[in-house]
Amino acid sequence: MKSFRKELTFRTPTRRAFLNITPQVEAALGESGIREGLCLVNAMHITASVFINDDEPGLHEDFEKWLEKLAPEKPHSQYRHNGAEDNADAHLKRTIMGREVVVAVTGGRLDFGPWERIFYGEFDGKRAKRVLIKILGE
Ligand code: ZN
Repeated sequence: MKSFRKELTFRTPTRRAFLNITPQVEAALGESGIREGLCLVNAMHITASVFINDDEPGLHEDFEKWLEKLAPEKPHSQYRHNGAEDNADAHLKRTIMGREVVVAVTGGRLDFGPWERIFYGEFDGKRAKRVLIKILGE
């Protein structure tokens, strides 16, 4: 069995953002040479997510509004975690949107459903943060 590991780094100019990272994951899969197996992609930070959904801008606005209703950023003082930090909302948003995804690798390709794409969800950006890709198979 082969094993491949790669880190991606993102630095979003805004506090919150959704990035389609499917091309980077596909490139990593190509680099790995693995044709049959599993591909894990996870955020390495507890205020960011990796998730699978539709690449549709309206839906991304809906996510932003929905997450702000569930865990509004402001006022910062509403959260016990805030004090030295101001990112309690980002921890909560990350928990809802998830830490990682696993995609089957078949015939050297990510074996997606018709509209599935992989996204990096940033909830406390403006600094360098990492995503781990681990691919196992042969
Ligand atoms: Zn924090």
